[in-house]
Amino acid sequence: MLGQMMNFPLTIGSLVDHAARYHTETEIVSVNTLGGTEVTTWWQVGSNAHRLGDALTKLGLDPQTRCATIAWNNRRHLEIYFGVSGSGFVCHTINPRLFPEQLAYIITHAEDRVLFIDKSFVPLVKAIRDQIPCVEHIVLMGAEDADAATMIDGLTFYDDLIATGAPDFDWPEFDENTASSLCYTSGTTGNPKGVLYSHRTTVLHALAANTPDCIGFSARDVVLPVVPMFHVNAWGTPYACAQVGARMVLPGPGLDGPSLVSLIDEHRVNIALGVPTIWQGLLAEAKKSGSKLASLTRTVVGGSACPPSMMATFRDDYDVEVIHAWGMTEMSPLGSSNQPLAKHSDLPIEEQHALRESQGRPPWGVDLKIVDPDGKELTRDGVAQGDLMVRGHWILDAYFQSTAAETLTEGWFHTGDVATLDADGYLSIKDRSKDIIKSGGEWISSVDLENIALAHPELADAAVIGARHEKWDERPVLIAVRAEGHAPSEETVLSIFEGKIARWQVPDRVVFTDVLPRNATGKVLKRNLRDTFGDVLID
Ligand code: ADP
Repeated sequence: MLGQMMNFPLTIGSLVDHAARYHTETEIVSVNTLGGTEVTTWWQVGSNAHRLGDALTKLGLDPQTRCATIAWNNRRHLEIYFGVSGSGFVCHTINPRLFPEQLAYIITHAEDRVLFIDKSFVPLVKAIRDQIPCVEHIVLMGAEDADAATMIDGLTFYDDLIATGAPDFDWPEFDENTASSLCYTSGTTGNPKGVLYSHRTTVLHALAANTPDCIGFSARDVVLPVVPMFHVNAWGTPYACAQVGARMVLPGPGLDGPSLVSLIDEHRVNIALGVPTIWQGLLAEAKKSGSKLASLTRTVVGGSACPPSMMATFRDDYDVEVIHAWGMTEMSPLGSSNQPLAKHSDLPIEEQHALRESQGRPPWGVDLKIVDPDGKELTRDGVAQGDLMVRGHWILDAYFQSTAAETLTEGWFHTGDVATLDADGYLSIKDRSKDIIKSGGEWISSVDLENIALAHPELADAAVIGARHEKWDERPVLIAVRAEGHAPSEETVLSIFEGKIARWQVPDRVVFTDVLPRNATGKVLKRNLRDTFGDVLID
């Protein structure tokens, strides 16, 4: 016997329709690519999304046609998110920081037929135009622009395109498992791989993000997603915000400290989401300018480990709660977020703070386990370290144009992370498995060492790699960037590890450098560091 309840497919179009109808006047603030700030509303975003859906349909594109974007976080990008997916096409967001050859590879692999670009990326697209013959329509995200038109043959303009569509265009009906959007992983190993989300997984992910122990956006929030819309759908923020009608502040191209501080202060942002590197810039500027970030109450930090020293600065200097979250492109991305349980309220305050440092617990919808090299499940005791495996409602089954058999191990996705899990399900990420340091048969977590080093007041940045060692195979070496105006010695830097970890885990050396190499999503490129500094312990 089936239940006798209405059965609406879970679709992305329904999210923006809700926001447009029930949060009509709620503002969307958007920093334009060419400067200046624009204020629109959920009603206007919804209306333009329908216009765009109609316009794309009139171009005669087949259902599921990939429509790509190379764009900043702005209101046209938001309209494209809903307009493309809502009308049954696939919104393929592309990271502009990839190498041009990788961009061409991704566009060709995805068979994109439409490409929406912000003005900043006209030169980039012009340079690879010959390598992407699959693209039939290149649309500049703005009004008509004679200057840009001279650079790309046949360039069309977003504002003209949506003018050909009707705001009362009806979304087509389709199965909720239909593909909605596509995002490629950064490809630190091999070619980038595509993750093809569906309407259902996206809506379920938004519902989970909106539970109070995850992020829990509300209609009273002012949300600043600094995490880019070209990377894992800005952690799903646009969908989750539409679902509850939160006010959004879209920061455009300026992700530097001064731009972010002034956006937060001017628009009274209370929740901001971003990676630790970006928050370093924000905190440095707040200190310099004297801003108290008065409106900000919460920040969601993920993408790489949030150093405890950064959490303490947010908490103690700005009264901002850090929600440490972990996830992957393959997981839409939310896998866990750190919130306390009821029993923790009786703990001494220092212990409560320490508890917030890990990557947290999975929400309903995600299941985690850690396994040994033979695939045997390890105990959840907070000590045993193993390969982290995941499964759940918004976790990929197979990479785009590959199969589940090639992607999963007995129904679980291998994250490539090494972690511990405790009895309550708190997850602590120790390393990417390829970055963990294997010293004489023992494992040393580079993340733990980096967290300690980053608290050193005379260091601006730090990464730890396993350097080759004749006796121990590998030993930790700290690659450090000195803070401006400071010149700490190797001994001063190493003294920060005293009493915090076992002596055998202390790095053998400190090598100073000017800047750490990072990939397109802001993660330190450890492989490059190993190429450069991997032999410093060998004569
Ligand atoms: P890429 O596209 O570079 O593979 P993702 O953004 O999908 O990147 O990155 C996923 C990886 O980022 C995770 O597997 C993990 O190693 C790392 N990561 C994400 N969040 C955290 C976190 N809070 N702490 C530590 N590592 C994290």
